[in-house]
Amino acid sequence: MPKSIDAISYYQATATPHSNHPALAGDVNADVCIIGAGFTGLSAALELAQAGYRVVVLEAETVGYGASGRNGGQICTGFSSGQGKIEAQLGKDDARRCFDLAEESKRLIVDRIAEYKIDCDLVWGYIHAIPKPGQFDGLKEWKDEYDALGYTDTQILTKAELEERIGTRIYYGALREGGAGHFHPLNYCLGLARAAVAAGAVIHEKSRVLAVETGRDPWARTAGGKVSAKYMIIAGNAYLGRTVPKLYGRVMPVSSYILATEPLGENRARALIRDNEAVANTNFIVDYYRLTRDTRMLFGGRASYSTLEPPNLGAYMRPRMTAVFPQLRDVNIDYAWGGYIAITSNRMPDCGRLSPTTYYAHGYSGQGVALAGLYGKLMAEAIRGTAERFDLLARIKHLPFPGGPIRTPILVAAMLYYRIRDALS
Ligand SMILES: Cc1cc2nc3c(=O)[nH]c(=O)nc-3n(C[C@H](O)[C@H](O)[C@H](O)COP(=O)(O)OP(=O)(O)OC[C@H]3O[C@@H](n4cnc5c(N)ncnc54)[C@H](O)[C@@H]3O)c2cc1C
Repeated sequence: MPKSIDAISYYQATATPHSNHPALAGDVNADVCIIGAGFTGLSAALELAQAGYRVVVLEAETVGYGASGRNGGQICTGFSSGQGKIEAQLGKDDARRCFDLAEESKRLIVDRIAEYKIDCDLVWGYIHAIPKPGQFDGLKEWKDEYDALGYTDTQILTKAELEERIGTRIYYGALREGGAGHFHPLNYCLGLARAAVAAGAVIHEKSRVLAVETGRDPWARTAGGKVSAKYMIIAGNAYLGRTVPKLYGRVMPVSSYILATEPLGENRARALIRDNEAVANTNFIVDYYRLTRDTRMLFGGRASYSTLEPPNLGAYMRPRMTAVFPQLRDVNIDYAWGGYIAITSNRMPDCGRLSPTTYYAHGYSGQGVALAGLYGKLMAEAIRGTAERFDLLARIKHLPFPGGPIRTPILVAAMLYYRIRDALS
């Protein structure tokens, strides 16, 4: 059984054939240097290269190595924080603009898949299932909120209606969205990289940035060379660590784990999720799952705020899956892996400038599959001279996390609090 967070994932095992990119060797000049080849960095690279900028992307490992190539593949609506927190900070009208941008982020995926012919198993349909009977009224409020924002492709499912669609009896109803869904994130990421390179961007893999200047004349140095640029985009998210000290306390890495079963066959798979939607429960510590193209159950959850890895990921995750689907007790787990999510203190993404020429975006708080591409695009838009939409999102304020030895214990305590809240709510 696969054990480690870095074990070969289902996504790596089913990645579309792709070429590697050489490590940086020597000193080069560019218009824009981008740190990180995930959705954020590659989206910015694609936009800027298409606009004629000389773009160099530095990736510590390989394209999609971070969260973008190892997530649940669930394309979500809105922001992880919910709309209310954004309204509280920006007011109703600007919060509404943020929601419209989040809607744009989903269309961006659709458009890019079509334009660059990215084969990545896109499926629409998303079910948010409630684990407690008392949460049913909350579904109505949620639907009303979406309706008021102009997003009407939603439907409330009673317990009985949900049980016709999902092969479990543990939920008490759901909100079903037609405008959210799932895909193969690594293949989408590889497709973005291919499109960016075709547009003229240069990607260097195995090129970890070890030192970086984020002032007016930015540069980034790796073991093999240095990129000096007019602009810098920092898109290292939870994997950035202490590379840029000013960003270190702004997000916290939280690990999340996923398993993929052996192929179940069409009939058994569709008895679990009849219409092949993505599914998540509404707990703070969420279970998220879906079927793959080759009829596996791909089941994720169990965040760890301590980033201490369980000794056997497959065995650790199996009880979560069988709590929902006891009928999967006998199936083999072919893959289990994990990755780091960057969360912010208020679960709203964090973006801004470290100087007039250095941009960053990160901290999508578990909901970045669609948003990260949008933030990358908006940083590119700002560099090209139209910063209004980026600046709207950059107005969202965050409290930094504490540094030093109390950093992890505080998060572990917060996690315990939310576990207890999930159990009691
Ligand atoms: C297990 C898991 C499940 C998830 N599930 C979902 C989901 O279902 N739906 C959803 O919406 N979101 C989900 N997310 C979150 C989502 O994947 C992320 O928000 C999104 O992929 C962030 O993209 P990014 O490009 O900003 O960061 P990443 O994809 O993390 O990319 C950052 C890149 O920067 C590189 N890097 C870091 N430091 C350096 C350096 N010093 N030098 C060079 N390169 C560097 C890293 O190697 C990495 O490749 C999940 C995340 C995880 C980990």
